[in-house]
Amino acid sequence: VVSSPDLIVVDLDDTLYPQAEYLAGAWKHVAETAGRYGTDPAALHAHLTRVCAERGSGGGAIIDTALHRTGADPVLAPVLVAAFKAFRPAHLPLYPGVQAALAGLARIAPVVILTDGDPDTQHAKLDATGIREHVAGFCITDELGGRHLRKPDPAGLLHLCATFNADPARTVVIGDRPGKDLAVAHATGSRAVRVLTGEYAGQANDPGCVCVTLPTFAAAADHVASF
Ligand SMILES: [Mg+2]
Repeated sequence: VVSSPDLIVVDLDDTLYPQAEYLAGAWKHVAETAGRYGTDPAALHAHLTRVCAERGSGGGAIIDTALHRTGADPVLAPVLVAAFKAFRPAHLPLYPGVQAALAGLARIAPVVILTDGDPDTQHAKLDATGIREHVAGFCITDELGGRHLRKPDPAGLLHLCATFNADPARTVVIGDRPGKDLAVAHATGSRAVRVLTGEYAGQANDPGCVCVTLPTFAAAADHVASF
């Protein structure tokens, strides 16, 4: 029997806005920084985007590999990693229909964001998307006590449930990544809705994963409204 949820937990990156937009700005900033140290910014930029596409944004050592392929001095790597972390986007576009979908969900239950990543970066994304005013709260898992609490660790989801007096079994998680968003819902006995947007859209669900899969966040919100 499905019923109206106590709490709606929503992922940020690639669920509410395209993370590729953030990465595009970050690689541009890294290349421009390298240009000030005598490296060809256009060549480095081309390698950064290519390496990121090859191994995925979470693949690691993207800057080191791109520097190597550009033939640039590897001593630049720490400066460029710092530039990547310091990048603050001025504006990030939400996916179409997200604002209206969030407003619709908010009439059903509190809507909160559960997101992983460097806290300064995730705060910058919350600011650049303008999303803060459209949700009842958020949790950046690292701020609870470290990166070991990132999804699929249940700490963030349980923290939000406690804060909003919600039963995890009556909570819905909407997100794009099987190994994070769907796995954390599985860990807490929450319902899961997968959206097929962003970098991980082609990734298969884990065996045994129980979730509804929809193309967009707007469609996912319509589905949750039908519970
Ligand atoms: Mg995501």
